[in-house]
Amino acid sequence: MTRAVVLGGGLAGALAASVLARHVDEVVILEGDRYPDAPRSRKGVPQAQHNHMLMGGGAAAIDELLPGTTALLYAAGAYHRKIGQLVTLSAQGWFRRVDSDAYVINCTRPLVDHVVRTQAFRDEKIKVIESAKVVGLVGDAGRVRGVRFEQGQESPAEITADFVVDATGSRSKAPQWLAELGLPAVEEEFVDAGLSYAGRFYEVPEGTREDFPGVLMQTEPGTGHPGRGAALMLQEGRRWIVTLMGTRGDTPPSDEEGFMAYAKRLRHPIIADLLSLARPLTPIRASRAMADRRKYFDRLPVPEGFVAIGDAAMVLSPNYATGMSMAAFGAQALHEGLEGGGLRPGLSRSVQTAVIKAGEWPWQMAIGNDRWFPQVETNLTGKRVLGLDVAGMTDSMMRRFNVRFARTAAENPMVASATYAVTALSAQPSEMMAPPIMWAVMRGPRRPPLSAEEALAQYPELGDLLNPVPAFPPVPGQRVDAPDRT
Ligand SMILES: Cc1cc2nc3c(=O)[nH]c(=O)nc-3n(C[C@H](O)[C@H](O)[C@H](O)COP(=O)(O)OP(=O)(O)OC[C@H]3O[C@@H](n4cnc5c(N)ncnc54)[C@H](O)[C@@H]3O)c2cc1C
Repeated sequence: MTRAVVLGGGLAGALAASVLARHVDEVVILEGDRYPDAPRSRKGVPQAQHNHMLMGGGAAAIDELLPGTTALLYAAGAYHRKIGQLVTLSAQGWFRRVDSDAYVINCTRPLVDHVVRTQAFRDEKIKVIESAKVVGLVGDAGRVRGVRFEQGQESPAEITADFVVDATGSRSKAPQWLAELGLPAVEEEFVDAGLSYAGRFYEVPEGTREDFPGVLMQTEPGTGHPGRGAALMLQEGRRWIVTLMGTRGDTPPSDEEGFMAYAKRLRHPIIADLLSLARPLTPIRASRAMADRRKYFDRLPVPEGFVAIGDAAMVLSPNYATGMSMAAFGAQALHEGLEGGGLRPGLSRSVQTAVIKAGEWPWQMAIGNDRWFPQVETNLTGKRVLGLDVAGMTDSMMRRFNVRFARTAAENPMVASATYAVTALSAQPSEMMAPPIMWAVMRGPRRPPLSAEEALAQYPELGDLLNPVPAFPPVPGQRVDAPDRT
């Protein structure tokens, strides 16, 4: 009998279990927490209380692994939103509204987890042991043969395994567990801009339309000031989830007064204006010190019978909204590896390499931005910071190119559509480098940036919520920075 053991039954763990069940006789999930019987947050996934947007690329990957999942999400009230239809104030100004295909799914994280779990655990080969905290691996430097775990006060138990997947998330202890088997330290890279969130649910005000687009205010890297941004999205149950975000030096407060004051001081007060109409449903919740961290398990003499996926392998700043998709891509890499001949020597190395490869672009995108915030902490230096050496461009040339790209995207629907597709992880980054796009970027923006009034006028779905719009006089043809309204 063959047995796979999955450590942690969050999103990556549930997906991995469903993949493994096609190739082994039994899959055991060791989950340290207990699952709620409805879509509710739980202590094992504390970040689930915050806004989680599921990128279209990740949603498609989940559907490939567990067909019908996104249909179930929509049936439960999730919203499909084209990225080009969101009200977006980017670092380079307001975006023109674009009808491109790239999309996100807006719903609570507990709903995603609940639906994925329900889908995955239908497979009778999957056995879940709850309240089972993994404390170590069994085996040697060449092969992982089992797992040690604790349940309550009982002394640790061991379970044998032909294959082990670590999906215990960002607090994974796998590097330590592997070191205990005699493996060298796992190399880790990090870029830490000190990003923090403060978030809250609201009951939407009367008059909010079902097609309410959602509002995104992106953080601005490279200004010399801490990044400050926000998001307001419609989720199932007709609730708004609002997230205020700031990098080191400008942490969003989680007290009532400070929260609203921060919202008012954003580059435009649209979010504060919307919140003033809505009734809070929850306390303000904070999540602090979120960084980009990548663990290079693939650079080890990878032991047979072990891989790490999801946040256990790579954590990205949440404002890029790519973590759940990475969990799905990790499970996909496992699926492809197993389809290539089931459990076999070398499987761990090839899957671990594929997991790292799948994360390459999101990693570059995240660190390429985050490193430009002040007081950033990182163990990367020089070219390694970007990991790129494009046509001999220096770091600052690359930065200037990125800014020009983003300015053009804010104005040019073709460039915006390509950017959205790549951001949604539905297209390869090479699509942003296609000749017509590069040509448009070289020419730069052909129209002046939208004023706030022009930008908001693109959204009749906002209905009367922001009447009168905007809350301060627009400056024609000029980029909008809101006056301080505190
Ligand atoms: C504030 C915030 C906002 C985010 N927003 C987004 C977003 O908008 N879009 C997006 O795609 N991603 C977002 N993310 C990232 C996303 O939450 C993660 O990438 C995702 O949860 C990774 O899934 P996972 O299964 O690897 O880990 P997790 O979801 O963290 O699951 C880990 C599981 O392992 C269990 N576990 C942990 N330790 C043990 C142990 N020792 N033994 C047994 N079980 C254990 C836990 O109980 C849990 O069930 C956000 C993250 C944060 C912090």
